[in-house]
Amino acid sequence: MATTRKVIIIGSGPAGYTAAVYAARANLAPLMLTGIQPGGQLMLTTLVENYPGFVEGIQGPELMETMKKQAEHFGTEMIAEDVTAVDFSKRPFVIRAGERVFESHTVIIATGASSKLLGLPAESKLMGRGVSTCATCDGFFFKDQNIMVVGGGDSALEEALYLSRLGRQVDVVHRRAALRGSKIMQERAFKNPKIKFLWDTIVHDILDVAKGKVTSVLLKNLKTNAREERPVDGLFVAIGHQPNTQIFRGQVELLPNEYIKVNPGTTQTSVPGVFAAGDVQDHVYRQAVTAAGTGCMAALEAERYLEATQPH
Ligand code: NAP
Repeated sequence: MATTRKVIIIGSGPAGYTAAVYAARANLAPLMLTGIQPGGQLMLTTLVENYPGFVEGIQGPELMETMKKQAEHFGTEMIAEDVTAVDFSKRPFVIRAGERVFESHTVIIATGASSKLLGLPAESKLMGRGVSTCATCDGFFFKDQNIMVVGGGDSALEEALYLSRLGRQVDVVHRRAALRGSKIMQERAFKNPKIKFLWDTIVHDILDVAKGKVTSVLLKNLKTNAREERPVDGLFVAIGHQPNTQIFRGQVELLPNEYIKVNPGTTQTSVPGVFAAGDVQDHVYRQAVTAAGTGCMAALEAERYLEATQPH
């Protein structure tokens, strides 16, 4: 086994890269296990207009590539492996990535969350080309156009309310006849003249892959089996998120919704020396800039932890 690292960062979205920049500049020689598909959720978007510092916005993948280069520039070592198991009961901590085993005095978890998807082939092909999982990121592109939101929970209602300020009309497609979202959000959505609900309905297919953009969706009513094609410019899938915490179950305390529990106002998990940053511990804000902010916090907290626990 190689020497014990000071900091290992697991995951490579805005939280992971920011933690890497800070840790590298603090001379902690961080090792980043980026995963085999690095970059996180921004790799699934096109133009990002709400990340500060880019007057006219920046493409999501380009932003992530820039953050990666910045982290490397300061000496972050990167390995494109998925972490398969961790053991936080031992000190130093043990991290396995495929056949390789690493040891570290501190760990920053930045594995993010994944949007749940409908699973239609056209959905992934048109992701960032009319299909989106983030209204605050992409709603602006559908100003005065036809927007559809899929889902019946608070996320779907929040997205619909946000999008109603931009779109011509917002249709919310829900697979049942009753919403799961909170009463207050339901009332707001029902009162909004731009929001219409399509009950007991699912999105059966999305067109038009050949044109490389969303032009319409095929809907199916689950009660009547009736099918319908509706012109749509932007389709927002808001059926929930899944934090990427499977490998941390039993290692750090998770919340009932499976996000990592951190001490309020910090990135400290239930295990001293293990920190969590970004969407893996944030089910409220879920923005690239907030993820980057908590990545910075995690690196600073790891540095302080090392100073307090590791003799120089
Ligand atoms: P959620 O509450 O789990 O709701 C997911 C919705 O998507 C449900 O209506 C579900 O339908 C539907 N759905 C799931 N899989 C589907 C599929 N394959 N096809 C079609 N529809 C599908 O998730 P969420 O809305 O993201 O909310 C998660 C948590 O965050 C909740 O506790 C929520 O209150 C909270 N949150 C709060 C706010 C706020 O207060 N402003 C905003 C966002 C989220 P069924 O109802 O039929 O299961």
